[in-house]
Amino acid sequence: MLEVFAHWWWLAVDRVSAHAVEPALAFLHLGTLIGEPEDIAEALLIALLQIAIIACVFRPLETLAPAEGWKERKLTTVDRRFTLLLIGLNPLLAFFVLSPFASLFNSAIGLLGVPFDGLLHFVPHIHEHPYLAFGLYYVLNDLAYYWMHRAQHAIPWWWALHSMHHSQRQVNCWSNARVSYLDIVLESCLLATVGLLMGVNAGQFAWLVLSAELVQNLSHTNTRLGFGRVFERLLVDPRFHRLHHMLPDPARPKLHDCNYGQVLSVWDNLFGTALYDEPTHPTGLGDPVANADNGRGLVAMQWYTLRRFWGAFTSREGWMLQEVAFDANYRPIPVPKSIDSN
Ligand SMILES: [Zn+2]
Ligand SMILES: [Zn+2]
Repeated sequence: MLEVFAHWWWLAVDRVSAHAVEPALAFLHLGTLIGEPEDIAEALLIALLQIAIIACVFRPLETLAPAEGWKERKLTTVDRRFTLLLIGLNPLLAFFVLSPFASLFNSAIGLLGVPFDGLLHFVPHIHEHPYLAFGLYYVLNDLAYYWMHRAQHAIPWWWALHSMHHSQRQVNCWSNARVSYLDIVLESCLLATVGLLMGVNAGQFAWLVLSAELVQNLSHTNTRLGFGRVFERLLVDPRFHRLHHMLPDPARPKLHDCNYGQVLSVWDNLFGTALYDEPTHPTGLGDPVANADNGRGLVAMQWYTLRRFWGAFTSREGWMLQEVAFDANYRPIPVPKSIDSN
């Protein structure tokens, strides 16, 4: 089964590379400046595969078993546009950010003067079990993601970027791509570091990112479907992640500090941030400055997110671990914790 898929996949990569990418690169006089045509074709096809799965599987779930009605359906349009943009942005990210970053990392390792081809190679016999090695890497990558996501909420300048993702009041199957591009660069470099330390190659990294992204696309889907009492303790399902996006409740000010996992919910259960057995809450932010993202288009959202980031990055409050909102000048202001009933 896997061999059949691999055969058709590489055939498609070859065709797209020869009939679309190579002519386009020649027309633009780019040569191999932004990468090998086959790598660009693969990144394009991965993005198309992701979009096809969202449109054909996750979107119908929102109609068949919605978690909440579409009160402001037009707010979902910008998230769909963000997702479609990934087709062009994924190859650019791979070749302008990740490739130079990997070269820099390898040069830095080279300076140490000791041969290093990844921590996984220290595990006895692991090279004989490539699927086990990939699984081990997947788990560690997911753990790194969990702590990175906690940092995105705890460090105000990082929250300034991540708040754009949370400003959506109508969380939907396209919402995973609603992210600040500066945040994507930071996240990618951090997770790529984990991959490089483990000794994972670029091809494995691309498939890992796709599978993790698909789980995230599903977990943003507006559906009441869950994985059941047992599996929801292991894996993130749509109900679990929807609680992470809940509109803060002033009467229970810590309740929304929950469910940070990407693929495995194990980390939330292990580190005390898991929340289950809550009814569906409205999603979005209490902060009117970040909430204003909902009236903006794709470019304006990026711009105003950068203004919040700069306001936080250049102020003392922006570096203190705390929950913040933003004032009219995009400077962070601590959220008072006056009522603490949970
Ligand atoms: Zn978050
Ligand atoms: Zn989310």
